[in-house]
Amino acid sequence: MKKAIFKLNGGQGALLCSQCHVIITTGRYFTDKQWLAAKGEIKLPPQFCDRCTSNHLYKKLEDKVYKYPTKSKYGFHNDELETLLKDYPDINMDKFNEAMMGNTCMIDEGGVIMYHCDIFVALKCGIENRELTIEEWD
Ligand SMILES: [Zn+2]
Repeated sequence: MKKAIFKLNGGQGALLCSQCHVIITTGRYFTDKQWLAAKGEIKLPPQFCDRCTSNHLYKKLEDKVYKYPTKSKYGFHNDELETLLKDYPDINMDKFNEAMMGNTCMIDEGGVIMYHCDIFVALKCGIENRELTIEEWD
């Protein structure tokens, strides 16, 4: 079972990310619970740094997009995309649409198909409320 990782060096405790072991917070900022866990008196679930947290979220998002039961194995039709987007009511749709613009897509008998990878990247933009980064242009 994974749990929160504490390090005590010279009385100055630190809470480490359970994934990458970077220091999340130090003793000075510990909550009471974190102190108890550092002393081994209670157990805390694993804690993750921001980076690992967002990687984890994106892994889930990626799984969802790529394993979505689309009719076409190549990607999403518009109605499928609309259904998928209902699960993300809080994303910035302007950023999403901006990121989707100019993507290559293909057409089959059901209409336009949008590729999984484009939707995944556009969702990230919508969630983070940002534009595409240079690396994300294809
Ligand atoms: Zn981490």
